Amino acid sequence: MGLSVGIVGLPNVGKSTTFNALTKAANAQAANYPFCTIEPNKAVVEVPDHRLNELAKIVNPQRIMHSMIEFVDIAGLVKGASKGEGLGNKFLANIRETDLILHIVRCFDDENITHVEGGVDPIRDIEIINLELILADIEQLNKKLDRLAKEAKANLKGAKECLELAQDLLKHLEDGKMASEYANRDSEAFLTLNKELRLLSAKEVIYGVNVSEDELLDDNDYVKKVREYAAKSNHSVMKLCAKLEEDLVGMDEAEANEFLNELGVSESGLAAIIRTSFAKLNLISYFTCGVQEVRSWTIHKGYKAPKAASVIHNDFEKGFIKAEVISYDDFIACGGEAKAKEAGKLRLEGKDYEVIDGDIMHFRFNV
Ligand code: GDP
Repeated sequence: MGLSVGIVGLPNVGKSTTFNALTKAANAQAANYPFCTIEPNKAVVEVPDHRLNELAKIVNPQRIMHSMIEFVDIAGLVKGASKGEGLGNKFLANIRETDLILHIVRCFDDENITHVEGGVDPIRDIEIINLELILADIEQLNKKLDRLAKEAKANLKGAKECLELAQDLLKHLEDGKMASEYANRDSEAFLTLNKELRLLSAKEVIYGVNVSEDELLDDNDYVKKVREYAAKSNHSVMKLCAKLEEDLVGMDEAEANEFLNELGVSESGLAAIIRTSFAKLNLISYFTCGVQEVRSWTIHKGYKAPKAASVIHNDFEKGFIKAEVISYDDFIACGGEAKAKEAGKLRLEGKDYEVIDGDIMHFRFNV
């Protein structure tokens, strides 16, 4: 399941600081998730979800298990990466594996921290990285064109459309535009092509604008510019102060909340980014509630009940009979499963039921 977010950005913009905060959070949570392996450039973290705490207040379980999301540190992307500068090509290949890009952009002034390009200019920075993504895509697409031409000549099904689209897309990229801005990106030919090529510039992007602590509340001019830029391609902008995030993960919850309150913000930027990433990947959660654990399970939006059950165990899908479902709101309003059942809020759903975010599920199966 697609759950991987690649962190990119120019040097000295706050990527490592952001990634360190994620790693610290992951390490602090690791004891709860023995199945998560730890790799140096990856951090698997909990997706914050207050609903789990509300459920736990009712059920009183031994443990709470969150949905998880993986962040991959793709350090070292610099100007010229697509031509192999630095370890460029290797890093670009790493991005290809991810499902979403978190692009950290420097939006803070600090004369003690040098900027590789001379001064703070977020749009220039964004365009440097985006151009590398585009150039890498052009290379990929060029490699593919010969084969597409052969397939079209042999009259393979859909090949002619694919070839035409690839040629048109190539022109678009050569104009310096991202594949995510391409007009025909919803067409079948594009989707087929992209499934294979996993174009870097077609990926959804969250611009993580890194600001200083005292600029978290109101947008500074840099942030305003990034918002305007991102709006053109429908990408999200999330504000964070990377330095503060590192401090926050070291604090207990009450302390962190007090700190955020003083700054006038309700949630840490990183928590918001993690939640948004999850949503952007088109993922939702359903819950299982028992005295042992209250747990969040990750599925793609649109999964039917048997497929959703398979993320717990394949047998649940194979032997699926029915799903007992209580919606989150009903569960909370009634004060638990037994009372929800009494109130007629427990539904018995079949194999065509499309699971809704927040459903509390219990599967009946037989293998
Ligand atoms: P990377 O090269 O993008 O990984 O950048 P780093 O995370 O190593 O950050 C570069 C420098 O900027 C470090 O000295 C950080 O402490 C500093 N830095 C990161 N975020 C902030 C911030 O929000 N404000 C300020 N003033 N400095 C920051």
